[in-house]
Amino acid sequence: MNLKPSIYQGLPVALLTQHGKQELIRPILEVALGCRLVHTDGYDTDLLGTFTRDVARPSSQLEACRHKARIGMALTGTTLGMASEGAFGPDPYTGWMEWDTEVLLWVDAKHGLEVIGMAQGPAQSLHRMVRTTEELMQFATEALFPEHHLVLRPDHSEHPDLYKDLSNVNSLLRAFHAARAASTCDRVFVENDLRAYCNPTRQDIIRKAAENLVQKLSSLCPHCQAPGYGITRKVLGLRCKACGHPTRLPVADIWQCVVCAHQEQRDTAHGWADPGQCDRCNP
Ligand SMILES: [Zn+2]
Ligand SMILES: [Zn+2]
Repeated sequence: MNLKPSIYQGLPVALLTQHGKQELIRPILEVALGCRLVHTDGYDTDLLGTFTRDVARPSSQLEACRHKARIGMALTGTTLGMASEGAFGPDPYTGWMEWDTEVLLWVDAKHGLEVIGMAQGPAQSLHRMVRTTEELMQFATEALFPEHHLVLRPDHSEHPDLYKDLSNVNSLLRAFHAARAASTCDRVFVENDLRAYCNPTRQDIIRKAAENLVQKLSSLCPHCQAPGYGITRKVLGLRCKACGHPTRLPVADIWQCVVCAHQEQRDTAHGWADPGQCDRCNP
């Protein structure tokens, strides 16, 4: 579904980023919405937090996005802004896998609306302590180097000296020897670089978040026509076929406008829940 005509046709949208994300996001947003992404790097986004632990992350993902979008809008003098922010941690299902959650925030100051695009998936985020070049190169293979860049530190993961932008074997080995020389225990901490331009796995998830954002911006409120009309929560309680009691299975979606108060319930399931899913019949 596309906005025809898009209310954003031809309008400039500020995007503040230093890590090459504009080239991932630009084609998806510009083709779908007809807007014009204005990239700015007039502010050091690393001051807002980085993945290599040299600056602590100050706030939640969404707040960081909001802050970056506002700075970009102020720098470029636009009423539209967007920002991207990733977060890494254990996967929400088993807790065993490294997981990447990418958020893309759209800020429309004129219409007073914010729309959030999101995508998530397994992250390419490994780390290890190594002592020899053999161990280092073994790790590099597992970490999908050189397409995915690496970061090194002497001794441990919190050491203040870090070697980044390592994207070929020569620079990796040079950094490894320097880090080992600076080490007090002949050990080097090596990990995947999680910055977007260093991590193609992350790039894929950022693209998916951009597609999700476009989809949401293309969905209009039936009442006030504002973009960003979408599902805000699910209603649970599909009834059990055997005992008739509500289960924890979804029965409907609540759709809500981000500008006016309009909302509606759309049924997503019909019929009955399998008794195997019922806490009463199958506790
Ligand atoms: Zn039951
Ligand atoms: Zn509305």
